[in-house]
Amino acid sequence: MKNHPTAMRQDHAEFGALLQQVCDVAATFHEGIAERIVTTDLSTAGDMTDALPDTGDGAGTALKRFAKEIEPHLSGSVGPRYLAFVTGGATPAAIAGDWLAAACDNSASMAAGSIANRVTRQTLDWMLQLFDLPGDTFDGCFTSGATASNLLGILTAREFCGATLGIDVAANGAMALPAIPVLSACPHASMIKALSIAGFGRECVIPIDRVPGTEAMDPDALARALGGLGSGPKIVVASAGTVTGTDFDDLNAIADLCAANGAWLHVDGAFGIFARCLPERVDWTKGLERADSITGDSHKWLNVPYDSGFFFTRHLALLERVCSLGAAYLVTDEADPAYMLRGIESSQRFRALPAWMTLAAYGREGVAEVAQNNCGQATRLGAWLEGSADWELMKPVKLNVIVFRSAKTDDQSVALAALNATGKVFASPGAWDGVPGIRICFSNWMTTDEDVAIVEEALEAAAAAIG
Ligand SMILES: *Cc1c(COP(=O)(O)O)cnc(C)c1O
Repeated sequence: MKNHPTAMRQDHAEFGALLQQVCDVAATFHEGIAERIVTTDLSTAGDMTDALPDTGDGAGTALKRFAKEIEPHLSGSVGPRYLAFVTGGATPAAIAGDWLAAACDNSASMAAGSIANRVTRQTLDWMLQLFDLPGDTFDGCFTSGATASNLLGILTAREFCGATLGIDVAANGAMALPAIPVLSACPHASMIKALSIAGFGRECVIPIDRVPGTEAMDPDALARALGGLGSGPKIVVASAGTVTGTDFDDLNAIADLCAANGAWLHVDGAFGIFARCLPERVDWTKGLERADSITGDSHKWLNVPYDSGFFFTRHLALLERVCSLGAAYLVTDEADPAYMLRGIESSQRFRALPAWMTLAAYGREGVAEVAQNNCGQATRLGAWLEGSADWELMKPVKLNVIVFRSAKTDDQSVALAALNATGKVFASPGAWDGVPGIRICFSNWMTTDEDVAIVEEALEAAAAAIG
């Protein structure tokens, strides 16, 4: 045991120099990001099975091992052409905030003598202003991502359903409830996971028809489905931006139906909520302000490092009933909110700080510009695909996502592999209307029109490779 505290003390005595080395590593990584192969070939990487060291001589050694064993095999997912999933980048201010959150290591769980909670409260207020949501109606918390936010949505909705029946679910358990109908047209996979965790079950969703040719809910179909259910409580899960169609449910029509039928309205706007910042697209999100609960991700279009999501509800008391915890040593009487009463985690990272730094650094316009640019890039690549003989655009581009297929092979996994093998871009499989394809999503501040040109070249190279 002899060396551990010594090594830590030694590291701390030279902390500035150590952090400078870390800075150099990170800066070099970022400076090379555009040239880096977007996803690495792990065949040259170690298998990482060596045993736990008994002793160590400090962070310098660990950093050398990082440089040798790990850094060369990292992906360029923070860079401009990692276009799979909805992968947000990380702005310089957000990374600075994230580092400071770690270095200062304050928790936002309780006020307890730190400004962390007040900063969290301000950041949430700023986010409400960013999305033009009424700050006197909504409140919430930061989460580890949209999955956790969707889970909080379901848990708060479940509490609401119990309350309308005179059942205290937080006290007496979900088993005290009758079956609660959950209606949705195109729930994100993470919502299905949330329904599993929350005890509703993955198969509980009553599917609502979509508006033909889209992933958006057909409000008439919802009206029919609600009409066929009794008067008991219900949950409607709507989307503000589905992951392939980037379609937006008609939230005003759905909110009317929810109000008339005693249903909770949860809206998953993980990335689509950023359409609230885009003048030409803001109308798609009309009615969001009528939701009972809202999910968003900051590690997507806000370009904050993992992990960061947010959750808003107009029923804070219900959320706190779900998440509260009591113990003598946890009691605080401070004015700033105790976020341990609102989230899944009791101890919480100072997760607001990277978002606060981003908003302080770039403001409303900076955030909007990223989304605006990414939509322009998607539009440009969509137009290029439409003009290509080798590739087919499968649906018109609406927001930041493109779904397309190879015209040269029916096996789209072959086409995707050829595209990703260029090392210039990383795309993921997709499907539209049941037909397999390839999906690309722009959600990184770093991406430029020049990157779109590189993607076009990669598509040409991939088409040639397919033969
Ligand atoms: C990404 C996404 C999620 C899940 O978010 P995580 O950040 O991966 O937890 C949920 N809903 C939508 C619409 C998404 O795009």
